[in-house]
Amino acid sequence: MAKNYQLFIGGNWEDSVSGKTFESINPGTGEVNALVAEANAEDVDRAVRAARKAFESGPWAEMSPTDRGRLLYKAAEKMREKSDFLAEVESTDNGLPINETKFIAMPSTIDVLEFYAGLTNKVQGETLASPANRLNYTLREPLGVIGAIVPWNFPLMVAIWKLAPALAAGNTIVMKPSEIAPVSILELARVFQEAGIPDGVINIVPGYGAIAGSALASHPGIDKIVFTGSTATGRLIMQAAGHNLKPLSLELGGKSPNIVFEDAQLEDAVNMAAFGIYFGQGQVCAAGSRLFVQESVYDKFMDMFLRKAKSIRVGNPLESTTQMGPQVSEGQLQRIEQYITIGLEGGAKLLTGGERSKAAGNGYYFTPTIFGNVTNEMRIAREEIFGPVVSVIRFKDENDALFKANDTIYGLAAGVWTNDIKRAHRMARGLKAGTVWINTYNFLDSAAPFGGTKQSGFGRELGIQAMDMFMQTKHVWVDLNSQALNWYGN
Ligand code: NAD
Repeated sequence: MAKNYQLFIGGNWEDSVSGKTFESINPGTGEVNALVAEANAEDVDRAVRAARKAFESGPWAEMSPTDRGRLLYKAAEKMREKSDFLAEVESTDNGLPINETKFIAMPSTIDVLEFYAGLTNKVQGETLASPANRLNYTLREPLGVIGAIVPWNFPLMVAIWKLAPALAAGNTIVMKPSEIAPVSILELARVFQEAGIPDGVINIVPGYGAIAGSALASHPGIDKIVFTGSTATGRLIMQAAGHNLKPLSLELGGKSPNIVFEDAQLEDAVNMAAFGIYFGQGQVCAAGSRLFVQESVYDKFMDMFLRKAKSIRVGNPLESTTQMGPQVSEGQLQRIEQYITIGLEGGAKLLTGGERSKAAGNGYYFTPTIFGNVTNEMRIAREEIFGPVVSVIRFKDENDALFKANDTIYGLAAGVWTNDIKRAHRMARGLKAGTVWINTYNFLDSAAPFGGTKQSGFGRELGIQAMDMFMQTKHVWVDLNSQALNWYGN
């Protein structure tokens, strides 16, 4: 039976002002998973006010950084206790295979929360070089109220990437989950509430992008907007933030190159090229969706890669034997189908997949797909498909690989497969991307910054660097003269 969820504002679970709700669909079955209160501009405004109040006064404003850290550790502990439950909630709401939520998304999400829990009391200002008659120093301060807008592909992970550093720095937050998969983030709010995070520090306002999202992005009471989602929506958010001159950071889409050189360990490259595109059903911002293979090993590699793709078990996301679950929605399925047509019309060769799968009933299942004979100019090599579709492109040599890999509007991630250590580092320098993986793909670490260049966005999440996203520097000038300057002399 579908569960009901309310908005989370000022520590209270509340209906929306309009009383409206929307349906969150289980992509594994096509049935309604939950009925969720739908926030509008008025609800967003209430949430921003609650976050402002919690930022300016009350327990959060007065709490020491060490105590803030303790609370975040406690939240992480609660998340660990509820890890299997949260994994199941997320897999039911967005279709990620349970093995991916349980063994990859949840542990890494908890790890990120603990990383920032440990950073709360390690923030330091500086004493500046100054003459003997004065003292200049800096204070590192939180920004205030953060507005966060997040997507549906890894809701908990992306939410924690924002919540954890924002809270560690002492901010409060209003978060709008995606209307397509909002449920796990609402359950996360409950975890934080149980851990004792004070009222108003975290506020969750699920709703539609054009209504709740746009109200949050353009709200004058927000001090910064942080956004993860598509490049098209990123443009709208930037316009909204620009109107109020609000700072923002954007984590957007990608068309990341994964490059296999002839001297690579081919079996590893095949396995991780598959993980690079089929993990999360290809609904991964950093997906290795352009696979470059050196001419000399193309046939051998493709033979192995095809076998791998065909062996992947598509099925019900809640079954532990499933390797690829459903796409998140009927809309995403249709978008992928359009790109299959675009690929064929553009002259690419469909080597496997390219159609819906009935492996597990009425959900939104698609087959792992490979396009061969792709050139870097084709639309399927230039536009983000956000599905289990990889475009395989041949290259001649290192220069050719680097040129083609960088010939894109995006710059989120890249992979290089080679046993030549010099080449690996030359490529790492030359690739225009926020992350370069050498002889691996799709791995993230709490301590390692992640973000894009070019139209993949700007700002860095994760790592110590993410604290900068949520803090500002204040300069304090202290006059040490026994008497202050009397400029006018009278
Ligand atoms: P999306 O842009 O459609 O939606 C993202 C969020 O923005 C949702 O909460 C949505 O409701 C909201 N939104 C939509 N229109 C809005 C508007 N006009 N104003 C304010 N908010 C609005 O993206 P999606 O389909 O949910 O996610 C897929 C995209 O996210 C892909 O392009 C993917 O590459 C990207 N992504 C990037 C990263 C990264 O770290 N770079 C991570 C995950 C996903």
